[in-house]
Amino acid sequence: MKKFDYSAGIDLLKGAQTIAVCGHVNPDGDCLGSALALTLALRSCCYDVTPLLATRECPGLYDFLEGYSWFTPACDYHEDPDVFIMVDVPSLPRTGDGAHVFDRAKKTLVIDHHQGDGSFADVAYVDPTAAAAGMLVWDFIEQLGVAHTPEIATCCYTALVTDTGRFQFQNTDAPALEAAAKMACAGANPSEISRYVYQRRSLAAIQLNALVMRRMETLFDGKVVMSWVCEADFNNLGATKDDGDSLIDQIRQLDGIEVAVMLREQGPIVRGSIRSKTDRDVSAIAAKIGGGGHKAAAGFTVKGGLDEARRVITKLLGESFEAQPKARPTTDAEVTETTAFSMIDGVVQ
Ligand code: 5GP
Ligand code: MN
Repeated sequence: MKKFDYSAGIDLLKGAQTIAVCGHVNPDGDCLGSALALTLALRSCCYDVTPLLATRECPGLYDFLEGYSWFTPACDYHEDPDVFIMVDVPSLPRTGDGAHVFDRAKKTLVIDHHQGDGSFADVAYVDPTAAAAGMLVWDFIEQLGVAHTPEIATCCYTALVTDTGRFQFQNTDAPALEAAAKMACAGANPSEISRYVYQRRSLAAIQLNALVMRRMETLFDGKVVMSWVCEADFNNLGATKDDGDSLIDQIRQLDGIEVAVMLREQGPIVRGSIRSKTDRDVSAIAAKIGGGGHKAAAGFTVKGGLDEARRVITKLLGESFEAQPKARPTTDAEVTETTAFSMIDGVVQ
């Protein structure tokens, strides 16, 4: 993880009064936690800060975070802020309605960990080796001279635990664990946060999980697992949109698979989530159909129904397996470098 000198970003705030902070569409723990940590820190410096939502959507799962009730849909925010901060977002389209606020803002700042350089903003700090945007925010707040309060620590820890899949995914490295320890020392309570984020599932959500598990199919000699949900499933079970957010994490548990794909019908489109358990770059696969994300976790949208989405993604996966028949069991370059052994064709060397 990079250690940035955030002084240009901090200078950008000098003389500002109004600040808006916005994450990405389909908000997750990282973008919401990071946005609130920044909001709390900057409000303590007496800035007038509004945390914005890229759309009207805001998962109730994160309602325990301090400042959750301050979230305002960007489409309802009509000010021209002195500074607009995009956090955990690599591009303007991904900030949804926030893009209009970006256009109206006097100055713009990006703090992100997706692939990209943030060159569309006045100042950008982008580190794809950081496990979560919340880690960059943590350092930014420190350089701002604001204390890491228990509330800020809770927001940043939530960002980190969710983006690392509870410290299980390939982005879980020593800097992530060190940051988590610092956040816990500052007052984040890991078990309480886990209880809020992971132990409050509705019956409908768990039944939806069960359905998705039953529908799992493997493709490409067991290298891919795929499953799906349609709108009728949500209606039949009384499940909400949020209940479908972690389905991909259930199917990726299957032994032997390299890639997991979860397809979710949403009106005239299908949203796809794709995950890699090897160094196969699934963001590159998603990018071929206008999606993106990280090497190991990406998303995409297909116009059409589930059959069309399945056809499109299966074709792309086939091309990927043809171009890169073998994949290594990790995707994180840093982890590979610091690992004392390497694996070739599944054999520890
Ligand atoms: P998820 O599958 O959880 O929706 O997304 C996984 C990761 O990919 C997240 O970092 C998310 O921001 C990113 N992502 C999801 N969908 C898209 C998309 O359509 N375009 C881009 N650029 N990134 C996406
Ligand atoms: Mn993130």
